[in-house]
Amino acid sequence: MIGRDVASSYDLDRLSIATLASHSALQIMHGAKAEGLRTLLVSTRERLPLYREFSHIIDEIVVVDRWRDLCRQDVVKRLRESNAILVPHGSLVEYVGHECAENIELPIFGLRTLFRVEASQREKMELLRDAGIPTPPSYSIDEDFEDLVIVKLPGAKGGKGYFIAMSSREVRQRLRELVERGLIKDPREALIQKYIVGVPIYIHYFYSPTLDRVEITGADIRYETNVDGLRRLPPRILEEIGIEPSFVVVGNIPVVLRESMLVKALDYGRRFAEATKRKLPPGIIGPYCLEAIATPNLEIVVFEFSGRIVAGTNLYVAGSPYTHLYWNEPMSVGRRIAREIRIAIEKNALHKVVT
Ligand code: AMP
Repeated sequence: MIGRDVASSYDLDRLSIATLASHSALQIMHGAKAEGLRTLLVSTRERLPLYREFSHIIDEIVVVDRWRDLCRQDVVKRLRESNAILVPHGSLVEYVGHECAENIELPIFGLRTLFRVEASQREKMELLRDAGIPTPPSYSIDEDFEDLVIVKLPGAKGGKGYFIAMSSREVRQRLRELVERGLIKDPREALIQKYIVGVPIYIHYFYSPTLDRVEITGADIRYETNVDGLRRLPPRILEEIGIEPSFVVVGNIPVVLRESMLVKALDYGRRFAEATKRKLPPGIIGPYCLEAIATPNLEIVVFEFSGRIVAGTNLYVAGSPYTHLYWNEPMSVGRRIAREIRIAIEKNALHKVVT
């Protein structure tokens, strides 16, 4: 437990919440300040003009030439001197790489062994299935089928590099073309998943090790181009112009779930937390998200998860309908993270919330 050892040497009266200048950094900084903690931002030079605007919520900025410098000995030492707890977000692994994110000798508010699982679409789906959460059935490339499927290429991110097909023949044909065009190496790495017809919902959760409970902190929908624009065109025109749907995220839209769906949503959130405890002890710490399609039978079919704060929580910097119900005060996920750290300190249990 690299991070726990480092945290045990910290001056708890002078802790800092640290993160990379990207993704949900402003929310994380804002939340830490609201809880009376110090804040530290690691930023590249070109981002300074934005983040300097928010100097009232950022106590220190450590400037790096490249994101990977986060793992340089002198930068880690600098962060340790500020008693920094690193909050991972969607850009961390992407910007600094696995090697750095997994092994950095700083306390991480989160489960660092989950980073590797998150990098593999297959391992992710396996974890969800082990948790007993409904997932879309998937097909192997050798199977013959006639079904509507979504094919996820290795390394595809943010919905880029997905395609939809109607049969195994079509999938193989299109994968062959992609290999010929040099866009993918091994078609076996593509994940062929049944396309679930319904509406997407992204449910945000927070597992609190200090209170031993899962909280639903919000939900959002991603606004994806061009798929969310296609419905503006009549089917006749769509067929004629033959536009392929793509799923590139451009933003997030807030959504509240029907209250009757919360029972299932909470159950799946709890199952996920339990599965991580079983398979990757000590288990998830803090925020995560289950990404699902809700069908007309009100089934929630989960096709993906994120094991850390998601950008959709930026909608709720002043609190979400759910965090308000739990806390009766403006509680963003950023602030919830800082609150968890504060509760852990009060209970003399910081080791429970870092890895
Ligand atoms: P992801 O990058 O995994 O978040 O997926 C991008 C988008 O693809 C999602 O927001 C959904 O709209 C869609 N999607 C992914 N998997 C499925 C599925 N199995 N069935 C229906 N839609 C899906």
